[in-house]
Amino acid sequence: METDVKSILSECGFSFKKQLGQNFITDKNLLSSIVALSGAEEGDTVVEIGCGAGTLTRALAQKVKRVISFEVDKTLAPVLQRTLAGLENVEVVFKDFLKVDMPEFESGLKDYVVVANLPYYVTTPLIMKLIESSEKCKGLCVMVQEEVADRLCAKAGTADYGAITAMVALRAECAVVKRVPRTLFTPRPNVDSAVVKFTFGKGIEVADKALYKKVVHAAFGSRRKTLENNLVNSFGFSRQKAQEILTECRIDLKARGETLTPKQFAELAKIISEYK
Ligand code: SAM
Repeated sequence: METDVKSILSECGFSFKKQLGQNFITDKNLLSSIVALSGAEEGDTVVEIGCGAGTLTRALAQKVKRVISFEVDKTLAPVLQRTLAGLENVEVVFKDFLKVDMPEFESGLKDYVVVANLPYYVTTPLIMKLIESSEKCKGLCVMVQEEVADRLCAKAGTADYGAITAMVALRAECAVVKRVPRTLFTPRPNVDSAVVKFTFGKGIEVADKALYKKVVHAAFGSRRKTLENNLVNSFGFSRQKAQEILTECRIDLKARGETLTPKQFAELAKIISEYK
């Protein structure tokens, strides 16, 4: 497989675009391992984002019922015609997934699992799109830059913990399930990667998601400031009101936002909604 894909890319005159994060997987064992870790089963529909040369697409299609694969780079069409030849359960959509209208896309599907080897620049917007706008996504397994993986799965109070971690907690639990060295990609990137698996449906209870998001962004707005200061600045509360809210949540008045767990953010959002 490795030599085949590399020679197909070269025969098609394909040139890798760094700005699209085009580091492809050519290692057969890694491909099988991602398919297994994704948890996608025989009867599933898998949505892949960024099929590249189609190596992961092919491995997925050999296991599941249907693969819908999005790719923004149309110059990959002749490559994919060859690497996906003979597979009748794959549909390649040449479109930027970030621009896909989710209700329209999901209207024709029962449910689906997302599997992707994501370029760095789309990781956060793409995960946020699925967390906030998908209704039928039942699982997500993504390969991302290792430091992003650690951030996504970070615990409250650690340096890696950030707004994205707290936002993910709304819908899913996530864990790093595999570390992947840079040597397994073509061309070789400057960083190592990791596979993160999200289990949907294990999120926290939040009545007002927009308010939760506002609280989280306020808390991480200025990491060095106390949560009290960030609440005053983002919500326009008086210092006294911010202190009353924090006291009601049993949060230390000197606490910084990064020390709060997603459940505490949810409680804070609830109390703020009652004060408004
Ligand atoms: N899945 C392939 C693999 O693992 O070898 C390719 C992975 S490569 C890291 C990411 C791919 O995503 C590239 O082919 C790139 O062109 C594509 N891509 C980047 N941004 C995209 C977007 N917004 N929507 C769809 N595809 C995108």
